[in-house]
Amino acid sequence: DLEIAMKVVIVGNGSVGKSSMIQRFCRGIFTRDYKKTIGVDFLERILTVDDQPVRLMLWDTAGQEEFDAITRTYYRGANACVLACSITDKESFLALPKWKNKVCRECGDVPMVLVANKVDLQKESVVDSAELEGMARSLGVPKLIKTSVKDDLNVATVFNYLAQSYMQS
Ligand code: GDP
Ligand code: MG
Repeated sequence: DLEIAMKVVIVGNGSVGKSSMIQRFCRGIFTRDYKKTIGVDFLERILTVDDQPVRLMLWDTAGQEEFDAITRTYYRGANACVLACSITDKESFLALPKWKNKVCRECGDVPMVLVANKVDLQKESVVDSAELEGMARSLGVPKLIKTSVKDDLNVATVFNYLAQSYMQS
């Protein structure tokens, strides 16, 4: 079989856990405070979807999201997208429409998933499930997944879902 490769971009406000999620999925590790960037454009991992190997290249934003300066290179050729927020950060939740519009403008209609991260910090949550479901509905994003990168909860689910959606599209 020819290997299929897909580029996945992970967008959202700073500190929601994007770099951590990439590290967790591709390297199997979580650290509280590694340097702000992972030092490379992307990390990759191969998944199998219906016996077909799929190489996922997960692109990191290198902290540029704080300056609203993510370049075209970041989005170019993306095949799928993670829209990420943290349940402990209301602003990151309210910024989701802005991030979705950016992705749509640069990448068109690609498979997307809304990820609400840091569910291990439920006690500090400022965004409830109804709000998350309402946001997913209003954005027209068909899938909402609650994750904890720290506890390795549902991280693989996110990327399996995107790989499957891409293979079916
Ligand atoms: P980014 O700016 O979106 O790339 O966010 P980072 O991956 O740099 O994460 C920001 C901070 O949140 C770091 O201190 C991470 O260790 C922490 N973090 C990421 N995911 C989780 C999580 O699921 N739970 C908790 N408690 N902390 C997390
Ligand atoms: Mg980062």
